[in-house]
Amino acid sequence: MTESLNPSGSLFMVVAPSGAGKSTLVNALLAQEPTIKLSISYTTRQPRPGEEHGRQYYFTTVEDFLKRREAGEFLESAEVHGNYYGTSRLIIEKEMKAGRDVLLEIDWQGAQQVKKQFPSAVQVFILPPSIDALEERLKKRGQDEAHVITRRLLAAGGEIAHAPESEYVIINQEFATALSELTAIVKASRCRFAQQAARNASLFAQLGIHANPS
Ligand code: GDP
Ligand code: ADP
Ligand code: 5GP
Repeated sequence: MTESLNPSGSLFMVVAPSGAGKSTLVNALLAQEPTIKLSISYTTRQPRPGEEHGRQYYFTTVEDFLKRREAGEFLESAEVHGNYYGTSRLIIEKEMKAGRDVLLEIDWQGAQQVKKQFPSAVQVFILPPSIDALEERLKKRGQDEAHVITRRLLAAGGEIAHAPESEYVIINQEFATALSELTAIVKASRCRFAQQAARNASLFAQLGIHANPS
């Protein structure tokens, strides 16, 4: 799989420790930018109350997950907080070939694997305003058992240590500010030269613009 699969679209990766507000921000972004295609991951984690198969995740068994991984079905996969997560290669390839913007909500291990295959992927790290706020949000969300919350909080420091691998960092203190920053990143990424040139090939040709002037 090569970069040329997605000449006009952008591949976004949103990475954050659990509870930083990643899914809430991404859902609000998608409400404003409905053309972005959100990748639905496979996971072996149990569904939370209200989560539906095929909406937040494709929920599956460890056995099925490992079979798919063995068959090369995942663009990336990782074990996170004791569960397996993976991104479907097929779905992503299809959307990218169609020139759509694609967004992955994945952990830092997965982001590293994707970056190797798509160096122009845009990685956005969501930070909580403090560790106390992270704990409060995980508790307030009220969807994970106490031992799961503890495990996720203990992992947060190690995940945050990977923030420097990102192109962009958002501090999710005031939600509206964080959302406008995420929207700005998406808009700016769409204006990168390569994406504009691919999307507006005939205009660029008419104007005599060449990708690599020498
Ligand atoms: P949340 O962090 O509270 O939203 O909890 P989730 O259970 O939704 O996600 C758990 C972890 O798995 C997070 O770090 C996600 O970024 C990560 N994750 C979710 N989907 C994928 C995926 O397809 N691939 C990889 N590598 N990680 C994923
Ligand atoms: P993640 O997907 O990163 O695990 P969520 O999007 O589920 O995190 O958010 C965790 C909790 O924090 C949710 O209850 C959400 O409503 C809340 N939250 C998100 N952003 C903010 C914010 N800026 N201020 C206060 N609470 C927030
Ligand atoms: P949760 O169990 O709270 O839904 O997610 C926990 C973590 O798993 C989050 O950091 C989330 O980003 C990550 N995650 C979810 N799906 C994937 C995936 O497909 N691949 C990877 N690498 N991580 C994922």
